[in-house]
Amino acid sequence: ERYNKAEILRRVEEEDVEFIRLQFTDMFGMIKNIAVPSSRLVKVMENRYSIDLASLDEIAREGEEELYLKPDLDTFTILPWRPQHGKVARFLCDVCREDGSEYEASPRRVLKRAVEHAATMGYTFQVNPECEFFLFHTDENGMPTTLTHEKAGYLDTSPIDLGENTRRDIILTLEEMGYEIDSSHHEIASAQHEIDFTFEDALAAADKVTTFKMVVRTIAKRYGLHATFMPKPLQEMNGSGMHLNMQLYKDGRNVFEGEDGNLSREGEAFLAGICEHIDGITAILNPLVNSYKRLVPGFAAPSNVDWSKKHKNTLLRVAKRKFQSMTMELRSPDAASNPYLVFALCLEAGLDGIQRELKAPEEFSKDIRGIRTLPRNLGEALDKMKKEPLVAEVLGDVYVDAYRRAKEKEWTKYQSQITKWEIENYLYLI
Ligand code: GLU
Ligand code: MG
Ligand code: MG
Repeated sequence: ERYNKAEILRRVEEEDVEFIRLQFTDMFGMIKNIAVPSSRLVKVMENRYSIDLASLDEIAREGEEELYLKPDLDTFTILPWRPQHGKVARFLCDVCREDGSEYEASPRRVLKRAVEHAATMGYTFQVNPECEFFLFHTDENGMPTTLTHEKAGYLDTSPIDLGENTRRDIILTLEEMGYEIDSSHHEIASAQHEIDFTFEDALAAADKVTTFKMVVRTIAKRYGLHATFMPKPLQEMNGSGMHLNMQLYKDGRNVFEGEDGNLSREGEAFLAGICEHIDGITAILNPLVNSYKRLVPGFAAPSNVDWSKKHKNTLLRVAKRKFQSMTMELRSPDAASNPYLVFALCLEAGLDGIQRELKAPEEFSKDIRGIRTLPRNLGEALDKMKKEPLVAEVLGDVYVDAYRRAKEKEWTKYQSQITKWEIENYLYLI
């Protein structure tokens, strides 16, 4: 715990904060907020601001009890891009009932439950996500395009890297907000960038990803650019992923760490758990119709359920780098996902592997046979999710039903489109 109420009151006073934003995420992980003048701070900290979740998510049904925003005091952050006199600060909030109990079907609650479950087994889950994004031009009306004049590729520098200044400004802003940044680089595709954090507890990391996306978009806009985390904006280029680096600790020791730089038995079982549940949780890790256009061969993204210590493009990579503890990297998630749900599901899938002492599938090699593919589209992923009890266990029935309804609708709508490709290929010939 970093802050108590008295300290928050003092900081708001000292820092000349005029507005407070009460932020939370909807069921898909999008940040939403209510802004209140700082004179209302006491009311804020008494958890008295309510929201109409039914208009937002279709989770809470009409007539259900009022839900309230309960600020997590530790997430108090001044937004550096807002005015420096009469500043704007924010809290990330939990969604609660009138009696103060947390609403079960909220993303932050889902992750807290998984973390608490891990704690009963003696584990803490540390993650380090790698968020990739594109910086595109906007048109004369300020609307985003998929255009860039940039030709830079992996690790290029200025003057070829046209996003360098934007990226630096993003990082300085994040640091002002308390982020520890490990590194950043130009990614493989033109106009594609990546900024990497450090390992952290899953809840803090999920809070950071959510906030990160807002910061990146905001700062890019200042440079007249549109930042997007859309998984596959350009057909001929790599898409953007959110690789998830994971470590699991018990009594201060990373339990993935085996003898002679190998993965431990427990680590192998965790990996096996992820392999077993990956089909069923993919609709959450890759939530958009567009997500599946990234998960195809030839673009540095995984498309099969496989793992390796040395190959780069498998679904899971196990690596022990210099001065670093053993890390398991899951490469399928993308940043369109809700990080609270993704971290919760990966943790629970891995723990299930440990509890059942599952054996890892054979390590990837060129002559390996019988590897299965990841779900190839959102429809397939939703079918798999339906058959996966873990998702309902971790998210709860109310949440999973609402999520599924929304995504089935999205898939059906997409499926009914007649695309340009179909007209070009079928109209004349058939
Ligand atoms: N952009 C690639 C992806 O879609 C990953 C590139 C990398 O290895 O960082 O996952
Ligand atoms: Mg990358
Ligand atoms: Mg990676």
